Amino acid sequence: MTAHETDKYVYDFAEGNKDLKDLLGGKGANLAEMTNLGLPVPPGFTITTGACQAYLATGREPDGLAGQIEAHLQALEREMGRRLGDPDDPLLVSVRSGARFSMPGMMETVLNVGLNDRSVVGLARQAGGSAGPTASGGSADPTASGGNDRFAWDSYRRLIQMFGKTVCEVPGEEFEHALDEAKRAKGTHDDLDLDADDLRGLVETYKKIFAEHTGREFPQEPREQLDLAIRAVFESWNAERAILYRRQERIPADLGTAVNVVAMVFGNLGPDSGTGVAFTRDPGSGAQGIYGDYLANAQGEDVVAGIRNTVPLQELERLDKTSYDQLLDIMARLEGHYQDLCDIEFTIERGKLWMLQTRVGKRTAAAAFVIAGQLVDEGLIDLDEALHRVNGAQLAQLMFPRFQLDHDVPPVARGIGASPGAASGAVVFTSARAVELAAEGKAVILVRRETNPDDLNGMIAAQGILTSRGGKTSHAAVVARGMGKTCVSGADEIEVNVPAKRFTVGGRTVSEGDVVSIDGTTGKVYLGEVPVVPSEVVQYFEGSLDPAHVDNALVRAVHRIMTHADARRRLAVRTNADTGADAARARRFGAEGIGLCRTEHMFLGDRRELVERLILAATDTDRTDALAALLPLQRQDFVEIFREMAGLPVTVRLIDPPLHEFLPPLEQLAVNVAVAQERGEDVAKEEALLAAVRRMHEENPMLGLRGVRLGLVIPGLFAMQVRAIAEAAVAVTRDGGAACPEIMVPLVGAVQELETVRAEAEKIIAEVVGDSGVEVLIGTMIEVPRAALTAGQIAEAAQFFSFGTNDLTQMGWGFSRDDVEGAFFWRYLELGIFGISPFESIDRDGVGRLIRIAAEEGRAARPGLKLGVCGEHGGDPDSVHFFHEVGLDYVSCSPFRVPVARLEAGRAAIETTGSDSR
Ligand code: PEP
Ligand code: MG
Repeated sequence: MTAHETDKYVYDFAEGNKDLKDLLGGKGANLAEMTNLGLPVPPGFTITTGACQAYLATGREPDGLAGQIEAHLQALEREMGRRLGDPDDPLLVSVRSGARFSMPGMMETVLNVGLNDRSVVGLARQAGGSAGPTASGGSADPTASGGNDRFAWDSYRRLIQMFGKTVCEVPGEEFEHALDEAKRAKGTHDDLDLDADDLRGLVETYKKIFAEHTGREFPQEPREQLDLAIRAVFESWNAERAILYRRQERIPADLGTAVNVVAMVFGNLGPDSGTGVAFTRDPGSGAQGIYGDYLANAQGEDVVAGIRNTVPLQELERLDKTSYDQLLDIMARLEGHYQDLCDIEFTIERGKLWMLQTRVGKRTAAAAFVIAGQLVDEGLIDLDEALHRVNGAQLAQLMFPRFQLDHDVPPVARGIGASPGAASGAVVFTSARAVELAAEGKAVILVRRETNPDDLNGMIAAQGILTSRGGKTSHAAVVARGMGKTCVSGADEIEVNVPAKRFTVGGRTVSEGDVVSIDGTTGKVYLGEVPVVPSEVVQYFEGSLDPAHVDNALVRAVHRIMTHADARRRLAVRTNADTGADAARARRFGAEGIGLCRTEHMFLGDRRELVERLILAATDTDRTDALAALLPLQRQDFVEIFREMAGLPVTVRLIDPPLHEFLPPLEQLAVNVAVAQERGEDVAKEEALLAAVRRMHEENPMLGLRGVRLGLVIPGLFAMQVRAIAEAAVAVTRDGGAACPEIMVPLVGAVQELETVRAEAEKIIAEVVGDSGVEVLIGTMIEVPRAALTAGQIAEAAQFFSFGTNDLTQMGWGFSRDDVEGAFFWRYLELGIFGISPFESIDRDGVGRLIRIAAEEGRAARPGLKLGVCGEHGGDPDSVHFFHEVGLDYVSCSPFRVPVARLEAGRAAIETTGSDSR
């Protein structure tokens, strides 16, 4: 980057405004806005993010910057009638960082720049000359001389401390120890008991510490202090903690920070001075009122350091009614102006109020909804804006039960927060035991190394699931999220021993029946019971809280904003559901159909034996018999689902996983056979099973005989499923209901695969449906990269596409879904290769590109082709926006994520490019 003499790097506050955050940072832009509103902001100027970018690119200040700072400094000096660091009457300034996005990990502030051995005397004289603190100030009074020596020396020691720590990296503890030492020598714990002489001595000590650590004296030249402080702010952009924070928050690395240079005002001039923070509404609950803290006779960093206890802001009314009334007035003006909750920092210097900062304030998820609703009521914003100001992550947070906030149980392990929520219960290690205890009314937590389809019943019975292996897309995680059940996965400090019915963690043993608590949001595991509170928002979605009749601001706000999101969204929202019960719940949550019914869950439990018969069938007749036995069971499954969905579209996926997943594990079978042989028992059946398992073993089952390949290789399997679907649809329709089945073929990579399956299916459908009026669509998943790249051909044979983004991500990246997240994603995240797992949020550049290509080429070949997504991404807020942009017709997600998808689909529809949703 080249810097030009003509580039403007410095802006007076009067030159900026709130929309110049990119250039002036958040703090600078808002100081400018307040200045232009005529609010009492101390004069100052902002050095732009562009200057910082130029400095970071070249390692030196850009040409022209020094001159511009000089010109603005002179203007500031003229306005204040003082010169920076003047020995008789010094102007002092603060130097504060301020990036585009608030970054708590960055260097904050250096105060009192301009003080030195000479100007400290001038400051004392000048500060003591005016009204001065009143008698009630006690130990805060100035020295008897009539000057304000104490204040001046205190300000000087603060400068050396802050400058040393933030500009020259002198360890902060050294200064703190010296301060503690001075207080100890005085026999006090209170800073205010140190008098001017004590502080003068402390300044000498601080200067020694400074010289020892930096190899130079504390700089006495005010302009050098200023330049070094500005440079330190530039450099703080690349401090390790700032880099880490940006990575976590996905803030671009090249923005740079602005620097604000502001005339100092003092909250520590006596009891008629002070400093505070305020919120225009409660950032915790959203309730209207005055929220904040005030600390008399102090500077801002005293509040942060917690040196003395603050008092509630309302106390200020008693201490200084004029300033209090003025502050309330300003807060009301700021809210009206920003049309949002603002947070504020202010200082009162001898009865005069100064605004040091404002910004649209951070808030909890509940407050975000409540405040958005209030602002609509107050006529400040419309419903589109209210919808824009909340998000799906906040809604998701509001839907999970949570642990009481003030519990004090320490965690014993930490895994991946795989499915949010909070659950407590007795530990069990098998699905059967979970079902048994749950039937007795006990709350249980199912603990496994990892789960598999066999654990389904146990997972349903349990309050929560804890595994020591696996990541966010492990079986446990995906299924738990689908059920809205709390799950912590990959807690690898836990050693699970299923046969012994116990696990160990940190030297402790937890046995069956012992109570644990798991937090699926943070991944924390606790021993014992942590109290849980239920979610009102879920009660509302379930229909048990009527927003028209409950006096609950949150429920009413959620209802109002959800209704608006539904009115605005273009994307339909369906659900992934395999049972009538799930389908029913999803409908209560607003699902408009089923986007993925995974039929493999219907092959478990007591049907496993029939599947075994199918796999072991030696003759065509054996196989046909096994399929014939499965047919009525499958048909009944579909009847239940069609009934629940009452005419809404239901996408049923033909069986996808490798069939050997339905057989016992090889090792277990081998042992059973060996033991039975030893006992001389008849093991013909077990031997046949064992042989089949050996024959069907695959090194990479996820890339093996699954999906459409099963349909092509095992005669009659898909045909049975198609028949069951069509017969169920006809039965429901004949009963006066309505059914709209969409048959979906998984794992297609070539159009020929689909054509073969489709030809067979169409024959069966025609035969079953007859003149019943039932229409059955046949489409395909797009989850193999080749399918995406040949979507134009595949669309010729497909009436719809549904993107299986779990497999598309797995195969697009070559990442094993079940292994990578727990195994090494931490390193990828640390290196910034991606900011979030691509299994969680769609990788727009890679996997997203495959989706775009498939959508475009599919629709070019078949105009109006119905497009949906049924991978986990269908319920991820960011991904929903992407699917809206690409022009899909619907997203499908687990029942609990349906409201989140509805909300985000509404937000995607109203969002204009460039709007800021942070
Ligand atoms: C997918 O791959 O995205 C999908 C929905 O199928 P499954 O997760 O069952 O493989
Ligand atoms: Mg898949």
